[in-house]
Amino acid sequence: MSELLQTPIEFLKGVGPQRAQLLQKELGIFTYGDLLHTYPYRYLDRSIYHKCSELPYIDSYVQLVGTIDNIKEVGTARFKRLSARFTDSTGSIEFIWFQGGQWIKQMLVAGLPYQAFGKAKVINGVWTIPHPELTPMNEVSKKAGFQPFYSSTEKLNQKGLNTKGIEKLVQHLFFQHDIQTKEFLPEHIIKEQELISRSEALKKIHRPNNEIDIKQARFRLKFEELFFLQLEMLIRKGTRIQAIKGHVFEQSGELLNQFYAHHLPFELTNAQKRVIKEIRKDFLKGHHMNRLLQGDVGSGKTLVALIAMLIAVGNRFQACIMAPTEILANQHYETIRELVKDIDIKLALLTGSTKKAARIPLFDALEKGEINILIGTHALLEDPVQFHNLGFVVIDEQHRFGVAQRGKMWRKNSIPPHILVMTATPIPRTLAMTFYGDLDVSVIDELPPGRKPISTIHRFDSHRLALFGFMRKEIALGRQIYIVYPLIKESEKLDFNNLMDGFEAISRSFPMPEYQVSIVHGKMKPDAKEYEMQRFIKGETHIMVATTVIEVGVNVPNASVMIIESAERFGLAQLHQLRGRVGRGAEKSYCILMTGYELSKEAKKRMGTMVATSDGFEIAEVDLQLRGPGDLMGTQQSGILELKIADLSKDGEIVNSARETAKQLIENDPDLLLPAHQKLREKVITLLKERPNWGTIG
Ligand code: ADP
Ligand code: MG
Repeated sequence: MSELLQTPIEFLKGVGPQRAQLLQKELGIFTYGDLLHTYPYRYLDRSIYHKCSELPYIDSYVQLVGTIDNIKEVGTARFKRLSARFTDSTGSIEFIWFQGGQWIKQMLVAGLPYQAFGKAKVINGVWTIPHPELTPMNEVSKKAGFQPFYSSTEKLNQKGLNTKGIEKLVQHLFFQHDIQTKEFLPEHIIKEQELISRSEALKKIHRPNNEIDIKQARFRLKFEELFFLQLEMLIRKGTRIQAIKGHVFEQSGELLNQFYAHHLPFELTNAQKRVIKEIRKDFLKGHHMNRLLQGDVGSGKTLVALIAMLIAVGNRFQACIMAPTEILANQHYETIRELVKDIDIKLALLTGSTKKAARIPLFDALEKGEINILIGTHALLEDPVQFHNLGFVVIDEQHRFGVAQRGKMWRKNSIPPHILVMTATPIPRTLAMTFYGDLDVSVIDELPPGRKPISTIHRFDSHRLALFGFMRKEIALGRQIYIVYPLIKESEKLDFNNLMDGFEAISRSFPMPEYQVSIVHGKMKPDAKEYEMQRFIKGETHIMVATTVIEVGVNVPNASVMIIESAERFGLAQLHQLRGRVGRGAEKSYCILMTGYELSKEAKKRMGTMVATSDGFEIAEVDLQLRGPGDLMGTQQSGILELKIADLSKDGEIVNSARETAKQLIENDPDLLLPAHQKLREKVITLLKERPNWGTIG
């Protein structure tokens, strides 16, 4: 039977070569099977009748019952149309036909009750249904059922393949053929999850009779889709871990002991301890580690990274840490140098601005193994950078690096270095499970003690005077302030002007010499940027006016106020990142979101969320609801994952149970060798072949 589903779509009744080509191009439908798995995105209950006097909205599909009269041809000879009046108990609307009028005119019977169905429009101020679907009431089947709606495109529409046209093709598929689809899921899962059979689900998803049909069919198909995704992930993770050898770091190392005993500036949080344990376990296994570390801004990821690097170095390997910007790389270098200052360990810094003269000895020392930890930017990925024996790589702020760049680290050694990717942009659980299901994920879900929560306040532009007053007070207390402006590619010029206007206004209200104001933006030369940044870091300036160049990682503990201008134009993840720049010291900190009065519903929700919570994971969940998984993960990753029916932003519960089910299955029968799992095994083998490069990272 599966052969039938492999049949090219061209051969289905009503398709042919031309439409087949379009279906392939526009919707990716190549075979009968593809069509079968193209699901309606919504349904209209055909048992519900609307009233002429209460049509819901323009372009809504409506179903009416009433009679027709006043049938007449209108328009000019060149543009002739057929029109008719349609009346029910509440009023009248107009029907119109732009084509086939002659023929339709003969078919219509005035005064006969009809069921009418179509898309309601307003034409010349009158509610109108163009080309309604008409059925005499005495022919309307009692089992009205649900009208499915399929996605279509402009081009398909032109060839008659609107939702109705696609529905017809699906009908042909079912009428012409006895579609029997294979069941892949084992009986025990079907029972446990109370699923309907696959073949029943496919029938019901296209031709449901009631709400229950739709619910059951959707649940079954979503579960199946997510289950296979999770299963595939788990299997890949298993094979990856088995297949790729990794260095073993056996000793905890004198270095680490020394560090713990004398140089650890504070007690580690429980979350930090847990993550370090997870990493150490990986280091002992002899398999390659590919671990994602998620932790909110300020949760202390750097320290975890350093401790892991010290383990590598204690085992006579080199380690490196790569940051997305020079400022950050410098900052890591300073922080780490301070932390290990009395320990016998050699650090080096390599960024784009490392001078040529300095590079030669650096590369030489690196290759000889004289440098233990290299800190830098993506300059680390350049060809002349050769390690003696690189054992461990930390990548900070993961979202700034592409997969290909990470791949480069691999080629530098025969046994790949262990990899720890750190990100401060938490990914909602459902997404992490799906996108990074084959990675190991660690989470720091606890902030170091003694942090005072940041007060987040939403203010309208008109409060600016009060805001200036507040700023003066904070500065008088010895604090520093960030003011961030959006700078977005599409409206770069305008944004830039706003930034400059803002800078001028601030400079006027906070005049020298009493106040020092810095500005940093992307158009400045790196030297100038660095100079201004350093002035702020050293506390020489009170106010830093900037674009989001300061978004990631910068650590100025004395800064206590983050003002975000035009906050409505930032996404939640970015707002959260920016807020994370303050609250790093002991002082009470503030984040002030400035917006205009007119806010979209979504912008209101974003502001409300920021004010209500500072939990990065909670914010990420809201972000997922607002933007959907594709936008959240970036197209690069969402392309890998094209789900037909499940929605990662809404089906979190199904993701969970699919994950759990898959996990249990693999635990009980790791190679799917039980007779009850034979079909499942076949299906999984095809899936693994179809997507050979799924989820490779680093
Ligand atoms: P992030 O996770 O954002 O990279 P950092 O590593 O920069 O966070 O840490 C933020 C601040 O918290 C730093 O000043 C760091 O010294 C401090 N810190 C880290 N761990 C602890 C701890 N266990 N107790 C107290 N302070 C800590
Ligand atoms: Mg950091």
